[in-house]
Amino acid sequence: MPQYRTNTQPLPMSHLHIQTPYFESRALSHSSGRSVWLKMEALQPPGSFKIRGVGLKCQEAVKQGATRLISSSGGNAGIAVAYAGRQLSIPVTVVVPETTTDRAKALIRQENADVVVHGASWQEANALAVSMVGAGDAFVHPFDDALLWRGHASMVDEMAQAADAPDAIVLSVGGGGLLCGVLEGLHRNGWSGIPVIAVETRGADSLAQAVKAGYPIELPAIQSIASSLGARQVAQQAFDWTTRHTIHSVVVSDQQAVRACESFIQDQRIVVEPACGAALAAVYDHVEEIRAYQKVAVIVCGGVTATLAHLKNWGS
Ligand SMILES: *Cc1c(COP(=O)(O)O)cnc(C)c1O
Repeated sequence: MPQYRTNTQPLPMSHLHIQTPYFESRALSHSSGRSVWLKMEALQPPGSFKIRGVGLKCQEAVKQGATRLISSSGGNAGIAVAYAGRQLSIPVTVVVPETTTDRAKALIRQENADVVVHGASWQEANALAVSMVGAGDAFVHPFDDALLWRGHASMVDEMAQAADAPDAIVLSVGGGGLLCGVLEGLHRNGWSGIPVIAVETRGADSLAQAVKAGYPIELPAIQSIASSLGARQVAQQAFDWTTRHTIHSVVVSDQQAVRACESFIQDQRIVVEPACGAALAAVYDHVEEIRAYQKVAVIVCGGVTATLAHLKNWGS
């Protein structure tokens, strides 16, 4: 076996994400009555944009001498950390709450990571994960970390290299890591004047509620099927961006998100989670906040925890 493929010699890659396609979708443009561009993060190897920031964070941790990675997400962040650990030949432990699906646990284990099940919600799983961090361990937060945002920003670098600026960018918001990353990318590419349409589902609308309250409030509970948007409180930095950049906060229903996933399968032949369907719904259902813009770019953030069967179930 060639030496670069062995476990002791990690592949000499500059980053763990791949460059994804960015193109104008005829079908979505037609449905929406405006030019709709798609940044296809659903095609990242672990299935979502998360690997951009997580990959950078894990590489830096290994450079600093970390010998194990610990995370606390039963969703796409946990899967991305597990993927990064395997690529970097370093063990990974992911603490997930009891609500995590068998599918998500299997996807984490498929990357050779250890899964620890603990607590009724992410908060409890996260508390255990943080308490497990010992000497030589690095903790990878799913959304609240400046390195994560810097890594996520690379998707905007690719968009700026590939095409002219859109009039607005549409994305989903959970804890706000994607939002912070895209904003960092907009500002470092001279696109700081481009407004962002930040979409959540009702029941997971922690950013919308924070904007209303004037500070990052904590939701008492999550009541949405879009589990990847289920952060009860957004990162402070995500809230702060709403005070210094034009961000339109939009809330759609679970049904709108699921319908958008179904339409997306018809139009682009790709399955995404309702978390991603939320952003797509803003376009398909031409929400008020989008109407002023002729050319919009949607971050198709992806997500692997929902299957076709789940979507059918939710849709009926
Ligand atoms: C994590 C995730 C989100 C939300 O990202 P945040 O950084 O938490 O705002 C949206 N969609 C998918 C598919 C995700 O995995």
